[in-house]
Amino acid sequence: MTTYLIIGNGVAGNSAAESIRKIDSQGNILMFSREKYYFYYVPALPEYLAGRKQVKDFTIHNEKWYDQNRIELHLATEIVEVEAPQKAVVAKSGRRFPYDQLLLACGGNSFLLPIPGSQSPGVYTLRTIEDTERIRRRAQQCQKAVVIGGGLLGLEAGNGLRQVGLEVSVVEFFPRLLPRQMDVAGAALLKSQMEEMGFRFFLGAKIQEIIPEKDGFWVCLEGGERLKTEMVLISAGVRPEVALKKSLDLQVDQGVKVDDGMRTGLEGIFAAGDLVEHRGRYYGIWPASMEQGRVAGSNMAGQELRYQGTVPANALKVAGIDLVAAGEIDSEAKMEAIVMKDEARRTYRKLVLKDNVIVGAILLGDTRGNDEIQKAIQLQKDVSAFKGSLGSQTFDFSKLK
Ligand SMILES: Cc1cc2nc3c(=O)[nH]c(=O)nc-3n(C[C@H](O)[C@H](O)[C@H](O)COP(=O)(O)OP(=O)(O)OC[C@H]3O[C@@H](n4cnc5c(N)ncnc54)[C@H](O)[C@@H]3O)c2cc1C
Repeated sequence: MTTYLIIGNGVAGNSAAESIRKIDSQGNILMFSREKYYFYYVPALPEYLAGRKQVKDFTIHNEKWYDQNRIELHLATEIVEVEAPQKAVVAKSGRRFPYDQLLLACGGNSFLLPIPGSQSPGVYTLRTIEDTERIRRRAQQCQKAVVIGGGLLGLEAGNGLRQVGLEVSVVEFFPRLLPRQMDVAGAALLKSQMEEMGFRFFLGAKIQEIIPEKDGFWVCLEGGERLKTEMVLISAGVRPEVALKKSLDLQVDQGVKVDDGMRTGLEGIFAAGDLVEHRGRYYGIWPASMEQGRVAGSNMAGQELRYQGTVPANALKVAGIDLVAAGEIDSEAKMEAIVMKDEARRTYRKLVLKDNVIVGAILLGDTRGNDEIQKAIQLQKDVSAFKGSLGSQTFDFSKLK
């Protein structure tokens, strides 16, 4: 009987476990998480921060699920070492667990900017339920927050803080919001909408240092501007959790390098999720982690699958703003694109084309056609027959099916 061991109880770990159980009904599956919570939907954390959701509302698998699938779950159990030659892992308590197949699904950590003051009490990052609870407790005593990073997570977390009554300023290094999902025109429209909601933005601004004061902080920008605040939330990207690298000779660049089978190159050791880099690409998104976990699990159980990559698609989860961005958004306007902008209706639609195939899209204010567009991107559908009418307000997106 095979013993499968999974380090990580996030989406990568859980979809691997599901995949293994479908193929091997008898094998032992052990899962470990250093957190004390069951598997939850991480993208819901900003809503938890805003007080609009309870943990139970975004818990995906409860105790019963692990029982039904006969998965031995070890919560609040950190694995500190992998003894690859002996095929065993060691928990912080010293307890050893042997395995036949091992999956590293340890996810990532928030990147802490290497600037003076970034590690001061009162400066936070958001990655887990416990982080969110710390931020909430602090927010209850504050009126002002500075969010460093105007990406999706920064804006969603900033919105969470705004909803619990704080004045929120966002500092972004790029000259526009959502630099990975938006081009200049779309980002400008989004900015004006969010300013009306009460956000203040400092774009094209680099943080020099965070100076703790007795009643808060000065966030100092290069160029001399200083923002007074009571708390700081840093949202400057994610880095893979590679602490186990100390005991494993893993190839790490942007993440742990894996092949199409999610194999690390070490005998019996697979990796998936925010931990990994695949074909030179680091995703850091839920659907990619889920698919990678599924592929890894299947291969661990002996049914060969290959991961072919994921077309990134993101939605901004801020009430009152409909925004979806997918694939190549051509932020530098170098490609063929069909663009529709309506300032009065506050809508912006951009479809990026390459060789008559939609390769990316931005839909702001009107996300009609989103599903069909994403499908067309995935299936690389030739749209030359509709090219003339794709930009029309009334285009029937079912034609893309
Ligand atoms: C606030 C927020 C909002 C997001 N919103 C979106 C979104 O809207 N759309 C989207 O696509 N993506 C979003 N993401 C990204 C998405 O959540 C991640 O891509 C996804 O959670 C990665 O899953 P994972 O399983 O690889 O890792 P994680 O979810 O990070 O899980 C890692 C697991 O490993 C465990 N672990 C780590 N090291 C050890 C160890 N040594 N021993 C034991 N256990 C260990 C952890 O406890 C945890 O259980 C968001 C992320 C955040 C933080």
